[in-house]
Amino acid sequence: MSAVMITRKVRKWEKLPGKNTFCCDGRVMMARQKGVFYLTLFLIIGTCSLFFAFECPYLAVHLSPAIPVFAALLFLFVMAMLLRTSFSDPGVLPRALPEEATFIEMEIEAANGNVPAGQRPPPRIRNVQINNQIVKLKYCYTCKIFRPPRASHCSICDNCVDRFDHHCPWVGNCVGKRNYRYFYLFTLSLSLLTIYIFTFDIVHVVMREYPVSHLCSQKEQTGFTVLEVLVCFFTLWSVVGLTGFHTYLISLNQTTNEDIKGSWSGKNRVQNPYSHKNIIKNCCEVLCGPTYPSVLDRRGLMQDDSLVSATCAAPSSSSSSNATPQTTKTTAPLIPNEHTPDDAKPSIAASAEKSPSPKEELPPALKLPPLASPETDAETSIAKDKTH
Ligand SMILES: [Zn+2]
Ligand SMILES: [Zn+2]
Repeated sequence: MSAVMITRKVRKWEKLPGKNTFCCDGRVMMARQKGVFYLTLFLIIGTCSLFFAFECPYLAVHLSPAIPVFAALLFLFVMAMLLRTSFSDPGVLPRALPEEATFIEMEIEAANGNVPAGQRPPPRIRNVQINNQIVKLKYCYTCKIFRPPRASHCSICDNCVDRFDHHCPWVGNCVGKRNYRYFYLFTLSLSLLTIYIFTFDIVHVVMREYPVSHLCSQKEQTGFTVLEVLVCFFTLWSVVGLTGFHTYLISLNQTTNEDIKGSWSGKNRVQNPYSHKNIIKNCCEVLCGPTYPSVLDRRGLMQDDSLVSATCAAPSSSSSSNATPQTTKTTAPLIPNEHTPDDAKPSIAASAEKSPSPKEELPPALKLPPLASPETDAETSIAKDKTH
């Protein structure tokens, strides 16, 4: 048995680190955990279907035909905003290439000097000035980058996300710089839809209970109406409350993550440098500001060098296709606690061994950082293959 190197073109999304799933050849990007997202779809589509089936025919005849038309338009808008939030890149920041990571490591070590054995190295932080405020940039031990201001690492998706707001299981995605406004429009329109259905459910029940004429006196099918009223009633509190909370955050130009951490609260004596101190300006910036392109280039082509064992019987193409998911799986978090500087050096050594997995666009000679010995690693991997 011998090992051969197979080079083929793959889309970049196939080799992206992080815990995401992709559909439609990389056009759709979501978190891996989608169970709650399906529940969201079920609740919205189920409730609206009952409304259209049992209330709308009655209300269209006895009140106005505009009632189902407006409900349909609102429903379509809610679904569009939900899918736009769920299926898009929230603003994932690409991880550092092995050479970049090595360079950043060298820079940090040069800045910190020699730390005596047994002492904790200083925290990896860089200070930048934004609107006369000092903002700290933290180093991400998983992505090997200093995060831009307002970015944070999502532990569920295992990515650093720009202007990270929160990870929302209801939409099955992170909410960040690129999809926040769609998330907000989703919660806002869902609040309106819930209030709308709830109101006309009550109207429907009242009209059936107290008919104006004998034509309205049928009392069948009220069980579904009661079910809708219950779903809407419980949804109202959570969704309207969430919309109110995000309206408050937008008016301050603040993220949920910053609010939870108290980044700009009084005790830190740091004012929010992103706020314009004007509610309308803050709302305009968050909701009407420029849209940002994805920096991942998910559908771009890259070269994939797969080292596969070739035998006379086994065709090499099937071996190379099997190798793809294995390399993707090596992108699990390198360090359980990413804020522990003591763990950094072992993790860097580990990443040096694993580094070929997400970085296949580089030629084989450049794939391993200088800290590891490329020839030795390559030889050992071939030797391992030969032993099988
Ligand atoms: Zn990160
Ligand atoms: Zn996430």
